[in-house]
Amino acid sequence: MPYFPLPHLRRALVALLLTALALAAVGCGREGSPPVKGPKGSELPTYPVAKNFTLPASPTWVRAKRRGHLVVGVKEDQPYLGEKDPASGRYSGFDIEIARMVSAGLGFPPGTLQFKTIASANRETALQNGQIDYYVGTYTINDKRKKLVGFAGPYYMAGQSLLVRTDEDDIHGPQDLAGKRVCSAAGSTPAQRIQAEYPRADLVTYDTYSVCVDNLLTYQVDAVTTDDAILLGYAAKVSDELKVVGKPFSHEPYGIGVPRGDNALRYAIDDVLAAAEKNGTWKKAYDATLGLSGVPAPKPPPIDRYPAS
Ligand code: GLU
Repeated sequence: MPYFPLPHLRRALVALLLTALALAAVGCGREGSPPVKGPKGSELPTYPVAKNFTLPASPTWVRAKRRGHLVVGVKEDQPYLGEKDPASGRYSGFDIEIARMVSAGLGFPPGTLQFKTIASANRETALQNGQIDYYVGTYTINDKRKKLVGFAGPYYMAGQSLLVRTDEDDIHGPQDLAGKRVCSAAGSTPAQRIQAEYPRADLVTYDTYSVCVDNLLTYQVDAVTTDDAILLGYAAKVSDELKVVGKPFSHEPYGIGVPRGDNALRYAIDDVLAAAEKNGTWKKAYDATLGLSGVPAPKPPPIDRYPAS
């Protein structure tokens, strides 16, 4: 813990900063509305609802149709990706746009899409026990997870990175983490990678990355690690306090999680993504959300469409 001549002042400053962060999150519009500082609602793409669409081979789709709405698992504290406005309860961000795009492609009009916040560690069980129909929230596709759930996509490629305070000079990459307190989300691939490949780092895990960021701002940890796309959003909110350092040190292909075995749903979502990437809708969604963090739209990674399992 660094020494501060006026600890009460420092604490007051941090408290003020956190309040400002909370306030910054307030003020969004309806479901799928743009993030704070984002473009006007009219600049977000609209997704034409597929007409007369049916998917009888998908038990998940059939159940949702009977219910009358889709339930989609997302994140609520990841700026530009999946963020919930605490005042209105409405969600915005790139993952939210992907979720809306997919629901329209599956024949569900905007009013029939319900979001449910699910933390990284709970995604597989939420899909397995039918709490959600699909999941869009910075969800890395990998073989271990494919044994538990199915993945459409990928629709974006991220990479693990590090977030530190602007006054930090010692940490430039994962090789500098020995003896440092590093925070990540439980059940995430970045937490697993630190444990496996950088065992000399002192890893601390919480349910969400926003708790890690609070701990970083109050000098309780030295770094936060997760995907660059997520960290850039936190850094953008308090750029005088936080910075992303080094180069990404992993590949994190983002997929849409579906119940394992529902191959019909998985392929239908792959089709929606492929069409949106081809006709420019994907880029519009990116530019209006994640693109605001300063990174121009990349070419999306090829869709995997792996054999039925
Ligand atoms: N993409 C990584 C993962 O799926 C980190 C982000 C997250 O926890 O959602 O574990």
